[in-house]
Amino acid sequence: MTPTKGYAAQAAGIPLAPFEFNRREPGPKDVEIEILYCGVCHSDLHQVRDEWGGALFPMVPGHEIVGRVRRVGAEVTNFREGDLAGVGCMIDSCRSCQSCREGQEQYCEEGFTGTYNSRERTSGQPAYGGYSNLIVTDEAFVLRVSEQLSLEGVAPLLCAGITTYSPLRYWKVGAGHKVGVLGLGGLGHMAVKFAVSFGAEVTMLSTSPSKEEDARRLGAHRFALTSSAEALKGLNNYFDFIIDTVSAPHDYNTYLSMLRTNGVMICVGAPPAPAQIPAFNLIFNRRSIGGSLIGGIRETQEMLDYCAEHGITSDVEVINIQQINSAYERMLKGDVRYRFVIDIQSLNEQGKGDNHNEF
Ligand code: NAP
Ligand code: ZN
Ligand code: ZN
Repeated sequence: MTPTKGYAAQAAGIPLAPFEFNRREPGPKDVEIEILYCGVCHSDLHQVRDEWGGALFPMVPGHEIVGRVRRVGAEVTNFREGDLAGVGCMIDSCRSCQSCREGQEQYCEEGFTGTYNSRERTSGQPAYGGYSNLIVTDEAFVLRVSEQLSLEGVAPLLCAGITTYSPLRYWKVGAGHKVGVLGLGGLGHMAVKFAVSFGAEVTMLSTSPSKEEDARRLGAHRFALTSSAEALKGLNNYFDFIIDTVSAPHDYNTYLSMLRTNGVMICVGAPPAPAQIPAFNLIFNRRSIGGSLIGGIRETQEMLDYCAEHGITSDVEVINIQQINSAYERMLKGDVRYRFVIDIQSLNEQGKGDNHNEF
């Protein structure tokens, strides 16, 4: 057992605070990683507030993990001490159902094992995430990370990156397509980067006028303020795809009407409340709504390799872990540019801007 430092929520809606626990000794197939950076996903916030139900406390969130391998088990073949490594949203799955055999562990028929807010499949122990200085994970769920890219910019690729890369690949988005990206946050800014990189014409659909300049810098060809009827003029029947990354309840119908015939609205944002969608908005123009959940391990590696080849990383604001509760508050207001990433070194520093605000 290795004593590990982290930050945890003790119950729903309670600010995160220092928390100590033990990580297991690495088994034969395990990789022990000293965590250097961990991204802050809006899913962390949904879960520490128990907005999706069934949350397990204490909860150490964090599923955008990068660090250096410290030890490996005797049967590990892909990693050695000193290698960079990443862990995303999953640490295990059944490994035998059809989805797992196809490399789509996120759709495991028994349910994938989350990096946190879940129980380890074999031990039944609670799984604790990346807001901590160490993690021990089976190598089948550990990703290789390039030495070429800034590590803090790579961390968010493990969730925000793969969650947008995977559906854009599945729906074969590329040159000749018009794509709307709804919501410019962690997922949204990665969706813009990937859709542009794949050759699509990209329009940013945002509630924040202050993000227009950034949207263009990220590569968006157009920007439309969703609160402005004027800005939305001309977008009816316009897009082949809209990728919806919004975290809060919103009216899907406004955006469905922007899809042309056969257009697809791809939902990746996961607001807690259900949406109301009249069938007519789909029947006319044969529109569809689809969803997509992160991505499998094989595809996550493909995405990381693609990013290394094309120099793609997340735009980040690095924070100390003591700032996590105020970072959550800012995230709730859409004030994120465009991913908070925790410098895990700060776990060793006491009293640095400690913040225990309610959020
Ligand atoms: P985020 O960084 O907080 O970004 C969400 C963005 O949505 C905000 O920046 C804002 O963009 C927009 N927004 C927020 N509130 C809004 C409202 N009331 N109405 C309209 N737009 C609003 O969040 P994230 O980390 O990208 O995550 C986004 C969602 O995806 C979350 O629900 C998260 O749980 C989910 N998620 C899903 C998966 C998956 O596998 N499907 C994976 C990871 C995350 P503007 O300022 O531009 O309007
Ligand atoms: Zn996430
Ligand atoms: Zn499975």
